[in-house]
Amino acid sequence: MENKINKITAELYALGAYKVNVIDASKVVTDPLFRDMCKSNACGLYGKCWTCPPDCGDINQLITSLEKYTKVLVFQTVGKLEDSYDFEGMTEHKKSFARLTLKVKQMLSKERVEALVLGAGGCGICERCSKRDNEPCRFPTRAIYSLEAYGVNVYELAKSAEMKYINGKDTVTYFCAVFFD
Ligand code: SF4
Repeated sequence: MENKINKITAELYALGAYKVNVIDASKVVTDPLFRDMCKSNACGLYGKCWTCPPDCGDINQLITSLEKYTKVLVFQTVGKLEDSYDFEGMTEHKKSFARLTLKVKQMLSKERVEALVLGAGGCGICERCSKRDNEPCRFPTRAIYSLEAYGVNVYELAKSAEMKYINGKDTVTYFCAVFFD
């Protein structure tokens, strides 16, 4: 397993990941209260994406489902923005992060590693999630659930992985966690 994870780590760096690290799953902090933050709908995705609350599933069940994993590969991407109002830049970076997360899923499948991949924010695979039109998910095997949906404290995750949560002025940082055994 170590060789496979080292290979995936090297590929992630080659594909533009800013930092990659492997931590013990016991260091991951979760809290069901994150679901309340999702309910406030600050991101506008509550009820608008199959992998976001409330459609992603019961928070306590999702948190419990993490217990079977012993290790977590964490990676972060850092995108440059023109300024803090550069929404186009943020959207572009979110898209490239989603592509990288999907690529990780493909690498894991190629290496036959059974893992759970959690990304940032909404799924991001389709331009418009089919949930908005009350249609089934177009790509259930590709769809990406978020760290927030599983109640993972991303700030603590960054600390455990020895990464900065924020990486300077006019940048946007995203995190992905790959739970494996
Ligand atoms: S794959 Fe597409 S339809 Fe399925 S959850 Fe993701 S964005 Fe929505």
